[in-house]
Amino acid sequence: MKMLVMAKSAQSIAYDALFAQAVEALRIHNPCGWKDGSCIAMRAGIEGATACCTGCKHLTSKGCTVEAITCKVWLCDYARRRPGNQAIATILDTLNRTAHDMLGSAMYCQQKSKQEMGL
Ligand code: SF4
Ligand code: SF4
Repeated sequence: MKMLVMAKSAQSIAYDALFAQAVEALRIHNPCGWKDGSCIAMRAGIEGATACCTGCKHLTSKGCTVEAITCKVWLCDYARRRPGNQAIATILDTLNRTAHDMLGSAMYCQQKSKQEMGL
């Protein structure tokens, strides 16, 4: 029987690599300061602030069901202004520009299922 092997495109590989870098940077720097289900903006009582996933169709009781690079490279203004967050804001901005330039608009805006990401 003939095996059909689908090679990942260079863009798809780049997407996964940039996504992984953003996840790792967020893990190390923890700019949103999650604690007991709320982020720093929510705990500060910023008017209208909710965690940025609130209301998203991909958010379930088990968390996010997709991998979206646009979400991982974004920080709200409150988090950006938090002392100590300048470095991570710069890292995410750089990843954001790189992702947009390398992936092109269509892939940049795409979300991947966790299966596609091999998670
Ligand atoms: S980006 Fe802002 S609103 Fe979103 S989780 Fe982080 S601190 Fe909260
Ligand atoms: S796609 Fe995932 S990370 Fe992005 S806003 Fe929706 S639930 Fe949050």
